[in-house]
Amino acid sequence: MTETFEGIVLHTLPYQENSLIGSVLTKEGVLSFISNKNKKNAGIISPLCLGSFELTKKPSSTLYKIKSFHISNQFLGIRKSYAHLQSAFQILKTLKDSQLAETPSPHLFNLTKCYLEKLGEFENPCVLKTSFFIKFLNHEGCLRFNLQCSHCNQNSISKISMGDFFCSSCFTPQAIEFSPEELKIFFTLGLSRSFSELKKIQLDTTTEEKINGMYNELTS
Ligand SMILES: [Zn+2]
Repeated sequence: MTETFEGIVLHTLPYQENSLIGSVLTKEGVLSFISNKNKKNAGIISPLCLGSFELTKKPSSTLYKIKSFHISNQFLGIRKSYAHLQSAFQILKTLKDSQLAETPSPHLFNLTKCYLEKLGEFENPCVLKTSFFIKFLNHEGCLRFNLQCSHCNQNSISKISMGDFFCSSCFTPQAIEFSPEELKIFFTLGLSRSFSELKKIQLDTTTEEKINGMYNELTS
């Protein structure tokens, strides 16, 4: 059966003499593919490309063969600086490492597509990268946004541990402390639906490292 998918290439790897294997994020989930490199234009299938893929597979197989494809966006804005590329590849890695094969996730596909389209417009790409990390954790159910302490339910929050928010009085080993200003940034990064609002965020290295620390704690 042949189906056409809109997809973002997550990774590719040369396979045997003339083939390429890889994975592509679609609304239907992550699909693994194989492509014959000799086919016309097959060389341009590379990570960080958005396109339309005509795929076919045997009912018993999980590996799709690329019948034809058309690349519609190579996200050239991201390719202007190493920092932008690094952020984009961290987003792709998050998806590659976390998503089960062929498990539909249209929301995650749309979020990734929007973020990659906008990433080049951001002077500091880490703003969109950390925003993606927080939204991704929230989407996966790993983060439970709360303004009151999850433990005592009384005090305002000041730290995050394993995806839960706590006050300064409750004992939470290895929690990451956030100042009120940092928490405001955290909530805006994670909950804002406006790119213009995200562009106003001044993300300093300390806050970024705390968010990365929280992300690593939940994903490693
Ligand atoms: Zn508390």
